[in-house]
Amino acid sequence: MANIIDGRAMAGRLLDSVANNVCELRARHGLHPALAVVLIGDDPASDIYVRNKLKACKKVGIASREHRLPATTTQRDLMALVDALNRDGDVHGILVQLPLPKHLDAQPVLDAIAPEKDVDGFHPVNVGRLTTAGGGLVPCTPLGCMMLLDSVIPDFRGLDAVVIGKSNIVGKPVALLLLERECTVTVTHIETRNLADIVRKADIVVVAAGHAGLVRGSWVKPGATVIDVGINRVVDASGKTRIVGDTCFGAMDHAAAVTPVPGGVGPMTIACLMANTARAAQMAAMARECEYG
Ligand code: NAD
Repeated sequence: MANIIDGRAMAGRLLDSVANNVCELRARHGLHPALAVVLIGDDPASDIYVRNKLKACKKVGIASREHRLPATTTQRDLMALVDALNRDGDVHGILVQLPLPKHLDAQPVLDAIAPEKDVDGFHPVNVGRLTTAGGGLVPCTPLGCMMLLDSVIPDFRGLDAVVIGKSNIVGKPVALLLLERECTVTVTHIETRNLADIVRKADIVVVAAGHAGLVRGSWVKPGATVIDVGINRVVDASGKTRIVGDTCFGAMDHAAAVTPVPGGVGPMTIACLMANTARAAQMAAMARECEYG
């Protein structure tokens, strides 16, 4: 039976360490890290995600500013808010909760966030840093996936990794991070042929497709590590709604280690958001000290 990687426990440890960093920033630099969260409209799932993020801020001592705007908000108003938050020296991280209502275009909004406050790591400058020298803010879910992998794999060099899903927020950045660690990476997507055969060769499987039970137990190479990013709401035989991942339970029989859903990648995503915000605040403190000697 596979080892179940406890994402909740790992996230708890990361949050403790972020809380220590926040205390140190306040004591040494007189700086109180702050995250601005922008939520537009009344999508119930986004509302839950935002509430969880704000709860985490409270836990680690990061100040949070919530900007809830109506679904009728215009692109211009949203851009103006991002501009104001960029110029506000007391705000160190800016997060615009996605998806936006259909009439709004997300990319110009993400492009407008100052790269040093881009705690989601979606700005082209941070994406560029991920593909080149590193050092930028890394998207939270991919960062969390790497920490989960680090907890069970001592040496990534030469391992075969498959990433299922090629989104900008999960699949592509995870693939780049694995490549940076000297894995041989295959990125797959909805049009990929023979996905099962590709997965069968992989030592590491990161699945982020949003397709319940996509990865069957028989696809998983014995001894592989499976990181399941998927979040799918399914109705079980008793009529209850449950959250499941993209991997079948049978993967447990073959894999060396798997992340559960819920309780795997999800908690790490939020903890990494807190870590990114503390890091952005630390960078701001360093920039301020350089400026004033
Ligand atoms: P997306 O819809 O933007 O991308 C999905 C990708 O999966 C696409 O590239 C698509 O080609 C591929 N895909 C879909 N079905 C496939 C199939 N049958 N075979 C192969 N490839 C397939 O989604 P996303 O934003 O990357 O999110 C993916 C999943 O991860 C969703 O379930 C989402 O809810 C979840 N998610 C979880 C977290 C977390 O913190 N746990 C964070 C982000 C996303």
